[in-house]
Amino acid sequence: MKEADVLIKRGQREARRPTLAADLPVQASAGVDRRSFLRRSGLAAGGLAALGTLPLGAVRKAEAGPPQPPGATLATRKNVCTHCSVGCTVIAKVTNGVWTGQEPGWDSPINRGSHCCKGAAVRDDVLSERRLRYPTKLVNGKWIRISWDQAIDEIGDKLTEIRAKSGPESVYWLGSAKFTNEAAYLNRKFAAFWGTNNSDHQARICHSTTVAGVANTWGYGAMTNSYNDIRNAKTIMVMGGNPAEAHPVSLQHILEGKELNRANMIVIDPRMTRTAAHATEYVRVRPGTHIPTIYGMLWHIFQNGWEDKEFIRQRVYGMDDIRKEVAKWPPDEVERVTGLPEAQVKRVAEIFAKQRPSTLIWAMGQTQFTVGTANVRISCILLLATGNVGHYGNGANIFRGHTNVQGATDVGLDVTTLPLYYGLDEGAWRHWCRVWEVDYDWMLSRFVDKTFMQTPGIPSTRWFDATLLPKDQVAQPDTMKAMFIMGHGGNTISRMPEAARGIEKLDLLVVCDPYPTTWSVLSERKNGTYLLPACTSFEMDGSRTASNRSLQWGEQIVKPVFESKNDYDVMYMLARKARLRRPDVQEHQGREWSGLGRGHPARAQSRRLVDRILRPVARAPQSAHEKSVQIRSRHIARPEGRIRSLRRLLRSAVAVLGHA
Ligand code: SF4
Repeated sequence: MKEADVLIKRGQREARRPTLAADLPVQASAGVDRRSFLRRSGLAAGGLAALGTLPLGAVRKAEAGPPQPPGATLATRKNVCTHCSVGCTVIAKVTNGVWTGQEPGWDSPINRGSHCCKGAAVRDDVLSERRLRYPTKLVNGKWIRISWDQAIDEIGDKLTEIRAKSGPESVYWLGSAKFTNEAAYLNRKFAAFWGTNNSDHQARICHSTTVAGVANTWGYGAMTNSYNDIRNAKTIMVMGGNPAEAHPVSLQHILEGKELNRANMIVIDPRMTRTAAHATEYVRVRPGTHIPTIYGMLWHIFQNGWEDKEFIRQRVYGMDDIRKEVAKWPPDEVERVTGLPEAQVKRVAEIFAKQRPSTLIWAMGQTQFTVGTANVRISCILLLATGNVGHYGNGANIFRGHTNVQGATDVGLDVTTLPLYYGLDEGAWRHWCRVWEVDYDWMLSRFVDKTFMQTPGIPSTRWFDATLLPKDQVAQPDTMKAMFIMGHGGNTISRMPEAARGIEKLDLLVVCDPYPTTWSVLSERKNGTYLLPACTSFEMDGSRTASNRSLQWGEQIVKPVFESKNDYDVMYMLARKARLRRPDVQEHQGREWSGLGRGHPARAQSRRLVDRILRPVARAPQSAHEKSVQIRSRHIARPEGRIRSLRRLLRSAVAVLGHA
């Protein structure tokens, strides 16, 4: 790889035409001093009049662009912004196979024609000069270009050797919240067929506490309502989030609730954030005092009888235990711990309990604590005590992080469960073996033993402990020897020094990503490291689940750039190399599984996922009519109705991973 290819920065590009700022010195040199400039422009007219003093060419009338070259093919493709979980629609314009322009989706109920600055720049993810262009490997400290075939051959051989010598648990499969649902599902399945539960993704450090806390409260770990529904709230309380910066387009729904619905907007945050700047009541709380703050609110709620007694009687158990805990948090104790005056806590509690429906919004300001799960649970308890669950305008609106962190979690990319939160016990394995059309005993034979099969893997925050600790202190046959990382930056780890040392001890490190990421530079490794160029989600088909569980289909906008490959193809190539298939299936059937176009596995899998697997948890179409409406509006994942022989494709899929 040439150094220049990697190091060129966008700021070094040449400007295409003079800008307003660039023209100002020209004016100065022409004898217009600052005073004259202001006088001429006129303070009242401001910038508009100022523009009149500038030479022609600095400001020009908006015009249609030049006509397309004769014979150019034009296409419009729809995909989803990959920068956060809001799930804004991106409409891409493609000319002769090149992504030439983008617009926000106007018919998307989520972003309704708007993008934030991150979404407005997603085209750069494909065109970036920092993209990995071809497979490379580290040889004596130098990156050497290799072919895909060589890379898969060498990586597959090394993985197989490690598996034979140290067992399947010695390989860590680190997946991604940037995956499509189909790729996340495949990645989890890949780990299962490899024989390990060491398979995780970014939810571990963002909202796994939310999933645990919310699921333990009402059964399923996700946002209960939707971005749009926030507009129906009479009270919007943000506690542990800053959507104005982290989820900018979501703020339009919050502000619409506040401005049009005259909703109260309470922001509880140690910092006066950009979100807090819009609040009708800003509560500056001491950091890390989430639980005492809510206990303080509940103290006033119970004291004044503001709780929803009928709701609690009908739907909640254990609230009397909460009352006992709350009694330990009178106003003076709450003020001592949180710094909040009694009057403010009482006022906020009364608004939240009485001016309903009330919704509670949070993000990582609640979850990234050692008591993150408890923070989440107390938030749910506040909603239950005030009867603010299960209706329009209320509920727990939990803003997740990555574009598909919800979907990747749903399809089981996690150390603790198989897809759809089945867990890891024998019944769960038997169910998924039936789905994947493999014998349970065959699957069991892939693992060290049944105990390992039913034991959660090592979380992504601690894999390096399994590398650094002596063998007898790691609860598996051998230490961690290899990592295969897809779509996951190394900067998600809080114990970076240990992670860096852990990387150095690996026999094999594979980074499959559109960019080199921190993994490639975090350590002083000299050998045994591969960088594989994966394409972005804009260069492949697939569905993704937004934070509000809207299941959306993303169309391939352009073909993978340079030599990059999509996630399905990479996993397919590796699965073939590692022979992760039933021995009785013919090899030729497997080839179709990786074919592009109609035979692409993503298409077959998406239909299955949408129609059967994700329906219980995602907002997939619930009827044929709804489905056809959504397909017409291009909003929700569309089944691939033009596939003529789905059965044949599904049979082919079985060939490699036993997929049906
Ligand atoms: S709000 Fe999120 S999904 Fe929407 S454009 Fe911005 S980064 Fe993309």
